[in-house]
Amino acid sequence: MTIKKLIFFGVLLFTLGTMNAKTKTKIIAHRGFWNTEGSAQNSIAALTKANEIKVYGSEFDVWLSSDGVPMINHDPTTADHQLILEKTSSALLKQEKLANGEYLPTLEEYLKKGKKCKYIKLIVELKPHSTKEREDSLTAKVLAMVKELKLEKKVEYISFSLNTVKELIRLNPKAKVSFLSASLSPKELKEIGCIGLDYNLSAMMKNENWFTEAKECGIKINVWTVNKENDMQYLIEKETDFITTNEPQLGLDLIKQE
Ligand code: MG
Repeated sequence: MTIKKLIFFGVLLFTLGTMNAKTKTKIIAHRGFWNTEGSAQNSIAALTKANEIKVYGSEFDVWLSSDGVPMINHDPTTADHQLILEKTSSALLKQEKLANGEYLPTLEEYLKKGKKCKYIKLIVELKPHSTKEREDSLTAKVLAMVKELKLEKKVEYISFSLNTVKELIRLNPKAKVSFLSASLSPKELKEIGCIGLDYNLSAMMKNENWFTEAKECGIKINVWTVNKENDMQYLIEKETDFITTNEPQLGLDLIKQE
């Protein structure tokens, strides 16, 4: 066999190999790894514990306080429902305690700790706010802080707000942004510059063609919030890129068996 033929067959085999390569599913800890001793949702402990078990990423939620400071919390209110995040000063919010005794963190504290967590990506969810101005202000502040802390390669962005998704991409076309509301097809997401979809499990089961459409147009697939073994197994078989879960250890155990 001539050298030319050898190279030809080598390239052919390599191409076939990559065509058949199975997507290996990765795990993202939803609001960090909180479902464990000493942790709490969106706490610094949840972030460091996600890093300890070496998941792909740790997700957390961001709101803008009344004085314009990005704060980490899931709901629009604090845990006792007494304070509305958007309408309360950061000074007051910082006095709030989480279920594990930590104080409610600022985004700056969270990102600085996240920088030391070498195994994980930081998945920032920007919450839909009461006005476009407040959403845009939060978006600009988050991007600026990530840049300032030199975390641009470690941070990925998600939002239910299409306005926020578009603003993230407008301000930083290289930002890795995925949309959370299952109202756009993978093709439509590609057109607006998203790198992925991040949809709930029932939406993906209702639109199973999105699994293949996403792969065809190069859109990553992330599905939330998947806590049951059989649902995880279904997504692993569908070659989902990411599973976002409250049970990250279970997810890791399942993908190791693959
Ligand atoms: Mg979230």
